Amino acid sequence: MKETKFIFITGGVLSSLGKGLAAASLGALLKARGLEVTIQKLDPYINVDPGTMNPTQHGEVFVTDDGAETDLDLGHYERYIDVAMSQRNNYTSGSIYYSVISKERRGDYLGGTVQVIPHITDEIKLMIRNLANSEPQPDVVLVEIGGTVGDIESQPFLEAIRQLRGDLGRNNCLFIHLTLVPYLRAAGEYKTKPTQHSVKELRSIGITPDIILCRCEQTVPEDLKRKIALFCDVDRDAVFSSVDVDHVYKVPLAFYDEGFDQKVAIMLRLPAKNPELQAWRDLVYSLDHPAGEVNIGIVGKYVELKEAYKSLHEALVHGGIANNVAVTLHYVPSEDITETNAKSILGKLDGILVPGGFGERGVDGKIAAVTYARENRVPFFGICLGMQCAVIEYARNVAGITGADSEEFNPLAQDKVIYLMKEWYDHRQQGLVKRTHESGKGGTMRLGAYPCTLKDNTKAFAAYGASSIEERHRHRYEFNNDYMETLEKAGLVFSGLSPHGDLAEIVEIPGHPWFVGCQFHPEFKSRPMRAHPLFREFIKAAKENSK
Ligand code: GLN
Repeated sequence: MKETKFIFITGGVLSSLGKGLAAASLGALLKARGLEVTIQKLDPYINVDPGTMNPTQHGEVFVTDDGAETDLDLGHYERYIDVAMSQRNNYTSGSIYYSVISKERRGDYLGGTVQVIPHITDEIKLMIRNLANSEPQPDVVLVEIGGTVGDIESQPFLEAIRQLRGDLGRNNCLFIHLTLVPYLRAAGEYKTKPTQHSVKELRSIGITPDIILCRCEQTVPEDLKRKIALFCDVDRDAVFSSVDVDHVYKVPLAFYDEGFDQKVAIMLRLPAKNPELQAWRDLVYSLDHPAGEVNIGIVGKYVELKEAYKSLHEALVHGGIANNVAVTLHYVPSEDITETNAKSILGKLDGILVPGGFGERGVDGKIAAVTYARENRVPFFGICLGMQCAVIEYARNVAGITGADSEEFNPLAQDKVIYLMKEWYDHRQQGLVKRTHESGKGGTMRLGAYPCTLKDNTKAFAAYGASSIEERHRHRYEFNNDYMETLEKAGLVFSGLSPHGDLAEIVEIPGHPWFVGCQFHPEFKSRPMRAHPLFREFIKAAKENSK
């Protein structure tokens, strides 16, 4: 068995320096060097997972195949290293404590006093080391510690990785510290003091960084690197820049150009070959040389915070890359849209997308946007709640079921075309539902990957080029099959169903340039070098429409 090496990435000075992207980019480079890579995120907050957190605060909840609700950084990891993440790739302080407290209640600690050290730290170490047992066994596990060094919250994680260096052996661990090197315009110079202080803080808890990665407007000048190396006690050639780039997919090549991944490979004695970076170069080339532009409107509730739609945003960019166009996104608050003003708000868009969401706020505007797209033959893509809105709209305005609604927005609706499937409870009892998210709202969520069978001669089938697919879900409500026949008669095509035919997964309108709604979240599986088929075709239709 090979020995897995661990790279720990901590952050200093302030948050939002791009630790997740740095980890993902380094991972991508190591993978391009022929190594098996995986990445783990450890989040210091107390929530057991981000599933219950408001996306405007914490950003998108990224869903994995195994149905874990995780930090959005796992989305970056999947997009950069193209390896499926799972629950084991994301732990929070809350989840660690939860598991230790459960063990304590079971009596596993045999009457001992349960403490942060060693019990919490042991649990953290176990969760980190467990990743080395993944299939295929990774050569490298990158572990990103959320938060900033000096926070009270992240201390158990830092203590755990400090101990791991001893447990695993120095040669098997590498500590990378990401800091900020600000440029002071008034003084006309870069400042290293925040970096020095943050490294001092890290050293005070026993961790000496091996590499310092400096977030900086530009490549850190040589003399400054020498200064940082001297004051922070790292090798002269172990200070690197994480520069501001105009596109996140340029980070791996920027790292490579400075020799970052090479230094990592040397320090960890990794069996790395020269990296194959052509795919990344092609990607950057196509981002820099689009042959046109499409304007896509995202009609949603969380439009104030783009982080809430991270994967969606990326999947649309991927769709643009596949069609050689730049995608310009316009976030449209759905509350502003009515049937009368829809044309003036949405008229200039080449495509309209209604994303996932929870709650009834702004639903009328979303439905008005669907009507507009349907009637004016504007390419439309509805995801999860967006598909549910499309079904309600079609039921009301085409099939004549005027009282059609979702149980979520209107529990007393006469025609609940979208409803809480009571069978879920039975399914759960029988273990048929892999994973659910209990909510106080009297429902459970369908989470994670589920199979779907596509109907021949449909847009969905043509897009995927396959009849069996698997996509990730995160929702509580389902299409109500009692209405399937009526809607089919009115012209709606159910092009994707669960293999047993009991769950509607994709709907579409034949004859419309592109009107597709899916109950799952395809954005989670899109990759920069392999756009998701539904996004690829949506952007293609929008591109046609823009001509
Ligand atoms: N609120 C809807 C449901 O729970 C849709 C969820 C979503 O869009 N992710 O079914």
